[in-house]
Amino acid sequence: MSTQSAGLHHITSIASDPRENVRFYTRELGLRFVKKTVNFDDPGSYHLYFGDETGRPGSIMTFFPWPGVKAGRHGTGQAEEVGYAVPKASIGWWAERLGARGIAFEGPTRRFEESVLLLKDPDGHFVEIVGTDWAGAVAGWAGGEVPAEHAVRGFSGVTLWLSEAAATARVLTEALGFAEVGSDNGRRRFAAGAGDLGTVVDLREVGGYPAGKLGAGIVHHIAFRASDDAAQAEMAEQARRLVSQVTPQVDRNYFRSVYFREPGGVLFEIATDDPGFAVDEPVAHLGEALKLPPQYEPHRAKIEAALPELGQP
Ligand code: ZN
Repeated sequence: MSTQSAGLHHITSIASDPRENVRFYTRELGLRFVKKTVNFDDPGSYHLYFGDETGRPGSIMTFFPWPGVKAGRHGTGQAEEVGYAVPKASIGWWAERLGARGIAFEGPTRRFEESVLLLKDPDGHFVEIVGTDWAGAVAGWAGGEVPAEHAVRGFSGVTLWLSEAAATARVLTEALGFAEVGSDNGRRRFAAGAGDLGTVVDLREVGGYPAGKLGAGIVHHIAFRASDDAAQAEMAEQARRLVSQVTPQVDRNYFRSVYFREPGGVLFEIATDDPGFAVDEPVAHLGEALKLPPQYEPHRAKIEAALPELGQP
């Protein structure tokens, strides 16, 4: 392998109501609200980050909540099911919890020797609770709505819906450090290492299915980890051989990113592990205050006044 990657860094999606979004991901899934900031390209709307205790790469689910945005459409050329890893022994506990809270789900089903519960968030995103062999060895966050032993540890992985998987598979294996490790019921599995957060990407060829459409309930992009700028540059160089365009590096305050659209249609990002979410507030207080990048600080009062209340996570 010419590049090093450790899998997924974060996943970013479109939501409609920010309050419902915060409620579901903190109270129902039990994730930590690790950063409250604005969309750096549109400071009139939030960018909300959820994750484990520190928001480490492989655990970070982020949303652009746009009140009133139209629902998107599930389909090809998109990242669809987002899997959240819990210990295999916790799947029964989760099934009971979801049932008791009136949240509809399917499963558990077996896939690659894992147990999977499938549900939807308030905007219609496909959410999977995945019982894995390795999650029990990773500490769960003890400060959330879900007891630490059953808590979501981070991503198990993500599933892309594609009309044709071959070109996407090449990007994963030749630029992003993944290897194909198996297939199950029409699903090809790619892994970047094993036994850790976010190391799995599944490709599902769903030819004949209509193309997806961005909107509420649809993933906007998925980001892969780079240990530092040099690793990112190397991965971007490999990607340039396979895709038409890779952007210059953009500073996102909590990481530095480059973006490209992979041949199957999904927007990919490569994000650095550093500096992380403790760069502008201590870990003990992550997510409590609205954080703004320096260029927007002079306009804080106006920005705050225009943003909707989020309620109590
Ligand atoms: Zn991103």
